[in-house]
Amino acid sequence: MLITNGKLIDGLGNKPILSDLVIVGDEIKFIGKTKFTEQDFNNRIGRHIDAQGQFISPGFIDLHSHGNPLVTPEFENFLAMGVTTITLGQDGDSPKVDQLSRWLSQVEKRGVAINLAMFIGHGTLRELAGINQAAVPTKQALNNMLQQLDDTLKYTFGLSTGLEYNPGLYAQQEELIALAKIVGKNNRVLMSHMRNEDSGQLIKSINELLIQGQFCKVHISHIKSVYGKGAAEADAILKILQDANNNGINITADIYPYNASYAGISLLFPVWAKTTKQFEYAMQHRREELATFLRNKIIKRNGNGSNLVWNRSLHRKNLRGVSIGIQHSF
Ligand SMILES: [Zn+2]
Repeated sequence: MLITNGKLIDGLGNKPILSDLVIVGDEIKFIGKTKFTEQDFNNRIGRHIDAQGQFISPGFIDLHSHGNPLVTPEFENFLAMGVTTITLGQDGDSPKVDQLSRWLSQVEKRGVAINLAMFIGHGTLRELAGINQAAVPTKQALNNMLQQLDDTLKYTFGLSTGLEYNPGLYAQQEELIALAKIVGKNNRVLMSHMRNEDSGQLIKSINELLIQGQFCKVHISHIKSVYGKGAAEADAILKILQDANNNGINITADIYPYNASYAGISLLFPVWAKTTKQFEYAMQHRREELATFLRNKIIKRNGNGSNLVWNRSLHRKNLRGVSIGIQHSF
């Protein structure tokens, strides 16, 4: 395959250059100016793409992705955006199976259209080890979790935590440090959806991760300041990361290429009403308080018209549209 006249971005940070590209099989064989005869086009070149006015680049790596390769192994959504490598098992949540290696073999056997960098989820590990919503795991359960992590890290890229989600939110510093030590021992990375991304809480969350960063490489998933205003705060955050790096902590971050986030609706709920059990208790004993909390939170997030709901039965409705439907029961 021959691609001609494109502006080539090599992915190494260099300026784009005008170049051709020759691909044989699944390998790039030549980068530079090509000279082919009419005969070559007839005999040797299977496909010619004229990339005049367009860019040629390596496939993008999506550092925070979700999906199930057993359901959609084609991953057309990613390929359509030029993404050729995704990271799964994010936000503390990976497939809940006894052995991730067996799940990965299934994926491989079935075939998957893009490269997959797999992470093991901390929330999932907590469930597998029977810790669930306990704040402090028993010594035995903790060791069980650490052992499972140690085994799984041999063939995965790292650990993900989702400290804003159930059950990750129950984890305390001692547990997180124990996990980080295992990640460091295996020279892997710990990616974190941090405990709280709100402006005002963000630095505290970063500091929590930086402590783990003393033991392993750490990465902030989708860094942002929820409700944050102005560039000064962003500059301050970037400075914290730069300072940490200067002090020998290996910390990185990724950002969304868009303005809104996408998550489960539990994100709106207070920590004391996250699980079904807690929610039911709160509805009985703290109903008014819960309603006020939710109302304020939604107002803070730009109101019920700004929160789009995504599930099959409430297809593309925002919270305002949904609440009109269920007002009689709430
Ligand atoms: Zn996340």
